[in-house]
Amino acid sequence: MKLTILQIALPCPLRLSFDYLSNNSEITWQTGMRVKVPFGNRELIGIIVNIQQTHEENKTSKLKTIIEAIDQQPIFEADLLSLTQWLSDYYHHPIGDCFQTVLPKKIRLGGSAELETETYWQLSGDKNEFKLGKKQQQLFTLLKDHPEGISQKVIYQHIGQCRTSLLGLEDKKIIRSVQNIKQPLISHDAVQHCQLNQEQQLAVDSVWKKKSLFSPFLLQGVTGSGKTEVYMQLAENMVNAGKQILILIPEIGLTTQFVDRFKRRLNARIVVLNSAISDGERTQSWLLAKAGLADIVIGTRSAVFTPLPNLGLIIIDEEHDASYKQQDGLRYHARNVALIRAQRANVPIVMGSATPSLESLYNVEQQRYQVLTLNQRATGANIPKIKLIDSRGPMANSGISTVLYHAIKTQLAADNQVLLFINRRGFAPVLMCHDCGWQATCSHCDARMIVHQRRNILCCHHCGLIQRLVEQCPTCKAGDLKTYGAGTEQIEHTLQAYFPETPVLRIDRDSTQKVNAFAEIVDDIRQGGAKILVGTQMLAKGHDFHDVTLVGVLDADQGLFSADFRATESLAQLIIQVTGRAGRGDKKGEVFIQTSQPQHEFWQDLIKHGYAFTAQKILAERKMMAMPPTGSLCVIRAEAQDEPLAMQFLSEVSGLFHQASQQDVIIMGPVPAIMEKRAGRYRAQLLLLSQQRKPLHQLLDHFMPSISSLKLTRKVRWSIDIDPLDLL
Ligand code: ADP
Ligand code: ZN
Ligand code: ZN
Repeated sequence: MKLTILQIALPCPLRLSFDYLSNNSEITWQTGMRVKVPFGNRELIGIIVNIQQTHEENKTSKLKTIIEAIDQQPIFEADLLSLTQWLSDYYHHPIGDCFQTVLPKKIRLGGSAELETETYWQLSGDKNEFKLGKKQQQLFTLLKDHPEGISQKVIYQHIGQCRTSLLGLEDKKIIRSVQNIKQPLISHDAVQHCQLNQEQQLAVDSVWKKKSLFSPFLLQGVTGSGKTEVYMQLAENMVNAGKQILILIPEIGLTTQFVDRFKRRLNARIVVLNSAISDGERTQSWLLAKAGLADIVIGTRSAVFTPLPNLGLIIIDEEHDASYKQQDGLRYHARNVALIRAQRANVPIVMGSATPSLESLYNVEQQRYQVLTLNQRATGANIPKIKLIDSRGPMANSGISTVLYHAIKTQLAADNQVLLFINRRGFAPVLMCHDCGWQATCSHCDARMIVHQRRNILCCHHCGLIQRLVEQCPTCKAGDLKTYGAGTEQIEHTLQAYFPETPVLRIDRDSTQKVNAFAEIVDDIRQGGAKILVGTQMLAKGHDFHDVTLVGVLDADQGLFSADFRATESLAQLIIQVTGRAGRGDKKGEVFIQTSQPQHEFWQDLIKHGYAFTAQKILAERKMMAMPPTGSLCVIRAEAQDEPLAMQFLSEVSGLFHQASQQDVIIMGPVPAIMEKRAGRYRAQLLLLSQQRKPLHQLLDHFMPSISSLKLTRKVRWSIDIDPLDLL
């Protein structure tokens, strides 16, 4: 007898394949279908990834039988299955767990794959003999203008709640309701086209010329140069050609501003996939895209997995942004995945940024990407000059130097807005006893507790531990505790004292926790009028505030002295991005950077020669050290509750690697992590570096089974990070 063995990807961290027997010979099994299977004493939903036929019963005697098929058809097309397979191979991550990232929650838990419907109304007869009330007459006219029918939701938007009138008309058989697929609203309002300038037009034309080829473009345009207009024009062309467009944006509070521009401009079915939507909405958007019923998908990182049967173009805005890299579980980089998708679908991909990643600049140099540049601000506004302030000068203790104070004062007097960045939440990073030298530290981490004065607590930003703010030294009982350094809360406090008449808004993770808090603050800023905004990096990206004329960076030194190999690249990007926040309107902008090292070569390069120059210089350094983007890097991390175990485990892993007689991969470590203890666990890492990608991946492939079966894996949490963003 012929037996069917189904290989199932299951949500489980084991690096094994799971074979089951078919329960039903009538079913035509296909890869990509969901099934329910017994697993230990549980039942799990999995995906069929492979199908085999066999006659050898001894091969199958130990196999369990699946419980039931959930789908009659594959839940996704072959391209998404092979993309998931690629993810599993490239990131050396169990395939079952890859599906956890790729599929929306409801789908992977076995939920319905039917599109949700909603009520639509349309005319069914004439109103001849009936006399209609005012609301009913309004409804009748509205529906007469839309013979295809309108959803109840939209009717309510037009003329308010009118359920009784609807039912009244239905009773008289003048209108009837139908169930249609729930779809995003399309704005039919006339849209303002904007005449592209020469550079923008050239960018659009260059991409359009390659519209049915895999062709990566780096759209390098200074902030405000009109990159978004280029995206919109390309999207419009693609929609008109019946194609779908995938647009990735960074994870920031303000997706709405970006999405609204697209909605106002394009007559298209746009769905949004970000962290703010419900599981239900996510599933519906996913299904709409899969059915070809969404033209444009705009979303953050994980939107890169949306099924798009008519994909015509991928756009990645702010391609350098670190939020495109997932930092736990499947540690994928969405830009990387997007490139693979574009290549497989044979479509162009446009990566836009004012401060491109070294990865992309290197690819341009290697002639793998074509570069398109926008050199001017589209509105004609100038990019402000950067001024350095020596933070060791007068008044430095308060966090705001005298020079900066006077500049702020002048701008406020002219009714302008001021935007200040400090990359630390809370009041102060250090609480210390003057008598005995005690410092508030976290008992679970090698880290200090941060003072949050408003909530009267000490908080560890690494593990979340919270304690009451102490007033007395716990060691020597002295009452003379002092704080050092400043965070957003303290700067807010100081500024409010300096400028009591001016509203000071603080924007950080603490002040924006409530739903809509961020949107409300942004609305408030847009109202205009003199204001001071104090925020973390959250405010550095993508926001277009017209009244901001002064931008200040209060603690630029952090990036200069970090142990992270990407620190200077990130700092250069941050400074240029924040510079782009000033003077976007008609008024001229100015930018101040407070640093204890104004003479540092980094500043001189960035200010005199700009981002491109600085980036090339950092790239040259990376080349010399064979670090990314020229070399390939992988970090294997481990952590354990018992102090020596993580190091022990990685030593064993390193021992395995050293068995291979190869010289192509340099094995470094293991070493304890810079912050060795975090959340009660001791952490270590092992680094692999190679000139070419291939030997590194071969080494991992070869030893993965041996690593997985090391005894210590039972006591140690470990993970593989391919192309890590940092080594901290
Ligand atoms: P970026 O995405 O590069 O930051 P935007 O596309 O947001 O730039 O454009 C910045 C500003 O310039 C916006 O207010 C936009 O409406 C305006 N703009 C863009 N292109 C043009 C153009 N060709 N003519 C006039 N204004 C433009
Ligand atoms: Zn003390
Ligand atoms: Zn902690």
